[in-house]
Amino acid sequence: MTPTGSFVRWGVLALVIAAGLIRGAGWRGVWPAVRITGGSMAPNLAGEHYCLICRDCQMVIRYDAHAPPRDGRVVCWNCGAGNDHRVDQKVRMGQRVLIDRWACAWRTPNRWDIVAFPMPNHPSRWAVKRIVGLPGERIEFRRGDVVANGRTVRKSLAQLRRMAVLVHDNDHPPKRELELPPRWKRKSSESRWHVEGTRFVFQPHEGEKKGLDWLGYQHWPGYAGVVQRTQPSPIMDNDSYNQQLSRRLNVVTDIMLACRIRIGDGEGCVALEITDLNDRYRVELCFQHRQLVWFRNSDELSRIPLPRFAYARGVLVEFAWCDGQLLFAIDGHPQIRHEFKSIEGDRTHRRVTENRQRSDSRDPISRMAIGATGTEVTVDRLRVFRDLHYLTPDYVDHHRNQWLLGPDELFVVGDNIPLSQDSRHWPRPGMPIEQLWGRVWGIQ
Ligand SMILES: [Zn+2]
Repeated sequence: MTPTGSFVRWGVLALVIAAGLIRGAGWRGVWPAVRITGGSMAPNLAGEHYCLICRDCQMVIRYDAHAPPRDGRVVCWNCGAGNDHRVDQKVRMGQRVLIDRWACAWRTPNRWDIVAFPMPNHPSRWAVKRIVGLPGERIEFRRGDVVANGRTVRKSLAQLRRMAVLVHDNDHPPKRELELPPRWKRKSSESRWHVEGTRFVFQPHEGEKKGLDWLGYQHWPGYAGVVQRTQPSPIMDNDSYNQQLSRRLNVVTDIMLACRIRIGDGEGCVALEITDLNDRYRVELCFQHRQLVWFRNSDELSRIPLPRFAYARGVLVEFAWCDGQLLFAIDGHPQIRHEFKSIEGDRTHRRVTENRQRSDSRDPISRMAIGATGTEVTVDRLRVFRDLHYLTPDYVDHHRNQWLLGPDELFVVGDNIPLSQDSRHWPRPGMPIEQLWGRVWGIQ
């Protein structure tokens, strides 16, 4: 036999053995697949649900099959249009997830991992929730953030991406009602920004050197019970999955903007801005000086060399204010992760900035903006996300409750925070690590 033939034969044999091992592992329950039934991990993992396409913006809306809206109206989370719930429509099965049973056998799983375990009050039933607190920690919630042993837990951008909830996608504008106000609005009547479909193009005048020309984001409520769907609203902790649940909604300060930016030949600058209700944070990409400069209000905090990417072809940028930190990435590569000390503790700072806010003429509801100057800029794929907003069982987002975990216990909470029954509700909040069945590592 030739060496090539031998190589092929051994290669095929290795593949057959590998496939057998993988199948065997599945059969023996090492990586079993389970189907989600309840809605406690929505909207990230849906249980049995209904699904419709919004009549106005064509966005997919999923909502709980166990509790459809009582009035038969399903409000689109993206554009606020009311849709009819059809009583005869088919219930969609819950998503199937793969469980890695080895992951919890060798080590304590990480915070924000999704794990499967038997329900403490119904051991015959399995539950899937997210790990929020680790062994020995004292857990509380402050303004929707998780606080462990008195310190705010901060996510990386990759973790935020996995958990964030999409609240507006500019690629799905309302098409049936054409007279609605724009979601991304030019801040001046002489603005050089113009709309091309779902793209925004900035075209400076020849030789014109002016300050940044801004497009500001306007959020709409996207929940039932408001008179006007286009009424400007802060970003709240609602989503479409459980619209029948009546509760007080909370303003979410942790938000993320993602979009694609392309620039022309001219020397210019693109800026992104987010406010956290107290301060404005701005990142400027200055192509002329090849610098990335960022600011809090008018104070320059830092400048770093602008990384070399193909800006003329287009780059994906992500900009977030989350867990008291500023996050910024270009094409998935983190450029800024800056933690601010002042989130809860520094009340003096908060008072000062609140006073500044009152005397500020800016619209406090418009919390995101994109600016440009000097060069042609095209912005598209604009999406706005919010972080998960943690609440106590009585739907309050500030610390009334504290939970203390034992040395081998985890605090687990479902992503559908108002609905989920979890560590916040159990008589003994900690989930013993030894009872974990495994870690969710994939969706089928
Ligand atoms: Zn819609």
